[in-house]
Amino acid sequence: MTGITIALSKGRIFEETLPLLAAAGITPLEDPESSRKLILQTSRDDVRLIIVRASDVPTYVEYGAADLGIAGKDVLLEHGGVGLYQPLDLEIARCRMMVAVPDGFDYAAAVRQGARLRVATKYVQTAREHFAAKGVHVDLIKLYGSMELAPLVGLSDAIVDLVSSGNTLKANGLKAVEEIAQISSRLVVNQAALKLKRELIQPMLDAFAGAIGKAA
Ligand code: ATP
Ligand code: MG
Repeated sequence: MTGITIALSKGRIFEETLPLLAAAGITPLEDPESSRKLILQTSRDDVRLIIVRASDVPTYVEYGAADLGIAGKDVLLEHGGVGLYQPLDLEIARCRMMVAVPDGFDYAAAVRQGARLRVATKYVQTAREHFAAKGVHVDLIKLYGSMELAPLVGLSDAIVDLVSSGNTLKANGLKAVEEIAQISSRLVVNQAALKLKRELIQPMLDAFAGAIGKAA
């Protein structure tokens, strides 16, 4: 493949990436929400998009199956980001990774007393590091979605999840009590591809940087 393959996930990242792609002269020829295709051709002969799960983007780029990708900081923290060059914070899909508990639960007191907390999350690695650094004892329970449900049915005392407006927490009688990280989506680049295809990749990086008002 002499062209460039870019890995993206459907939904908010795809939507918020479209203007950045446009700045590099890239318009997808199909809409991933209506098409079932996983490889999308673009207005540029030398650029194609692949549609993958948000949490799989770093893997495709790490192995060079995609040259570039766009992934949330949450996904990159959990993946570890090994072998990935992360040149640009695109400042899209912004939210915060938070610890949340039921409204009536005194988290600070539980932590002070050295209680052992059961925490349900999709972000097991990131949560483990966070609580270890704070000296909070936790048993982590891996979930793949709908974390807000876990404390409501007695699966866990707390959750670690992404929060933007806080409306989902509120609707489920939960409150955010601690921030773990500020989240936004980053451009990730395969390190070998950057060396071998720099003449194609560098102008794209410059166009993306220009589109978000940053000097490359
Ligand atoms: P999948 O459904 O394939 O497991 P996902 O649920 O993580 O993936 P999205 O909900 O589209 O997929 O999230 C993709 C990325 O968007 C996340 O990795 C995160 O960086 C960001 N994101 C998630 N939730 C929010 C939110 N409420 N506000 C802003 N950005 C968010
Ligand atoms: Mg989701």
